[in-house]
Amino acid sequence: MSPSILVVEDEAALLTLLRYNLEKQGFTVDEATDGQEALLRIAENKPDLVLLDWMLPSLSGIEVCRQIRRRPATRDLPVIMVTARTEDADAVRALDTGADDYIAKPFAVDALLARIRALLRRAATVPDKGTLAFGDLSMDQDAHRVTRAGRALHLGPTEYRLLEHFLAHPRRVFSREQLLDAVWGRDIHVELRTVDVHIRRLRKAINGEGEADLIRTVRSAGYALDVD
Ligand code: CA
Repeated sequence: MSPSILVVEDEAALLTLLRYNLEKQGFTVDEATDGQEALLRIAENKPDLVLLDWMLPSLSGIEVCRQIRRRPATRDLPVIMVTARTEDADAVRALDTGADDYIAKPFAVDALLARIRALLRRAATVPDKGTLAFGDLSMDQDAHRVTRAGRALHLGPTEYRLLEHFLAHPRRVFSREQLLDAVWGRDIHVELRTVDVHIRRLRKAINGEGEADLIRTVRSAGYALDVD
């Protein structure tokens, strides 16, 4: 399977050039032209690597990168930041927010391809994230598969990230605000009741008939992965 790359770039000419060159090298290319769209594309269809322009409309590349790192499901997603600046301070800032590498515009396509290949090689040697489990619920993070009592469950991406967060901290109670920060990212404006909607969906997805409800609602506190 050819690695997929999400190119986030608001300059149409550069986007076309990058897509052409990456596809020529056998990569599958997806694109987004602003920061919000980038986060949506990543949530819908996680790429193998993100090529992220710094200067973007709606949400800067730096902010997109922070949010990618904050979410459990994309914490390890390889990111190369494309900066229009050459100052070292900017490069440091890009790396500080969690980018794995950066390249300054204007760049030679060959140099970029070399960095992409190097980063994909590094990502491929990262040890497996493994399996999270609670009771008869199990999440294989590498295969992105969730089962309960051996039965495959089908979760949407948000429900998946919610469950991943709960599984990483079983029995701990999280407020809606904490769940928003952990799963959606601190800077996205989402109403608190959105959390309730996704908790409802998560319950529906993981609790089969006659099975114990694994999500505990703690009045005026929040939610926990727990059984009574
Ligand atoms: Ca730009």
